[in-house]
Amino acid sequence: MPEAALAQLRAQFPALQLKVADTPLVYLDNAATSQKPHCVIDAMVNHWQRHNANVHRASHRLSRFATEAFEEARQTVARFINAPSAAQIVWTRGTTESINLLAYGFTNQLKAGDEVLLTAMEHHANIVPWQLLCERTGAVLNVVPVLGDGRLDMAQFAALLSPRTKVFAVGHASNALGTIHPVQQMVAAAKNVGAITVVDGAQAVAHLTVDVQALDCDFYAFSGHKMFAPSGIGVLYGKAAALAALPPWQGGGEMIEKVSFSGSRFQAPPFRFEAGTPNIEGAIGLAAAIEFINAQPRQQWLAHEQALRQHTYQRLAALPEVTLYGPPADANDVVSLVSITIDGVHGKDMGMLLDQQQVAVRVGHHCAMPLMEQLGINGTLRISFAAYNSLAEADRVVDLIAGFLVDTLADTSAENSADNLV
Ligand code: PMP
Repeated sequence: MPEAALAQLRAQFPALQLKVADTPLVYLDNAATSQKPHCVIDAMVNHWQRHNANVHRASHRLSRFATEAFEEARQTVARFINAPSAAQIVWTRGTTESINLLAYGFTNQLKAGDEVLLTAMEHHANIVPWQLLCERTGAVLNVVPVLGDGRLDMAQFAALLSPRTKVFAVGHASNALGTIHPVQQMVAAAKNVGAITVVDGAQAVAHLTVDVQALDCDFYAFSGHKMFAPSGIGVLYGKAAALAALPPWQGGGEMIEKVSFSGSRFQAPPFRFEAGTPNIEGAIGLAAAIEFINAQPRQQWLAHEQALRQHTYQRLAALPEVTLYGPPADANDVVSLVSITIDGVHGKDMGMLLDQQQVAVRVGHHCAMPLMEQLGINGTLRISFAAYNSLAEADRVVDLIAGFLVDTLADTSAENSADNLV
């Protein structure tokens, strides 16, 4: 990305201007959550200052403004993922809640002996709700293993699919290794055996252009906060018939058509799944984030993000103590993150050292404990980029890691030579 364009992009994010004791903050934990641009912050403040009211009920002016903005936001989301209609966009708190809503809703559709198919690379949010569903119904959980190159074992995937497979749930991109899975192909295969297909798009939406009709999945879930929007707002997209087949999962105001003590009648989707006062400002913030993304040169962004990953990967690969996980440097089926372990150095220590130098990365299992177990490690140090990161920031984190290793090796060899003297 040209330097001027990057500088202009960075200027829109107040958190990227932060300094601690004159050292600029380097934010490389974007897979956990992204920073927020002024336009998102302003849209929310503007709502609170000028349009704040509850939605869908009152007949007054402010409520009309709030309702219009809230429902327009739903349409903005529908266009963003190419959903046929805004009625197919359910507001949730995030990916986790979207998947829980589904797993709860499928309870009556599954029975003992049925199967739910996941992959070994899933986030806990795309594992635990399905485990609970299996416990409730007696269904069995099957798992597609991961190969040494950080990709899924597609032969095993094909072998695990059968008419018993009732649900297939897969991440669009892995938050731990970055791998972008061949979701379109997997969804088609799962549909062939009659499974309901669920895609966890938490790591995809900020990086890829998502087209739910092209993917042809039944459901697609994502969170606002990983794509420059606030936390506490997320989306569940569903095919119209798939949403219509789901029972309500929380009861309360907004989701009903009629309530009486002899029983209640529920609204059609999406309102059936939105009990209580929703996160109005969150939806407005998410729409502002989408408008922000839509105004960007996304192909240029993607190329820049890939360049950041390749550069970081190649520099880290030159350090003998570093092990890299996930697809290779030149892969294009990967989002912009690098996951490593370092021989003889605890990830937590490295994370702390980087934090002392104002570099933010993530260390640990990344809510993907089963994947870590398959890889035979406790966790990784993850450097995850957004389009607003610079090559200088990538160099800073690698320089700090390399410098730390040189210092540690010097200490160790000094200790060794001291030992030799004794
Ligand atoms: N799935 C993936 C792949 C994720 O990376 C995350 C967030 N780390 C989630 C699900 C859960 O998202 P949230 O916490 O926003 O519900």
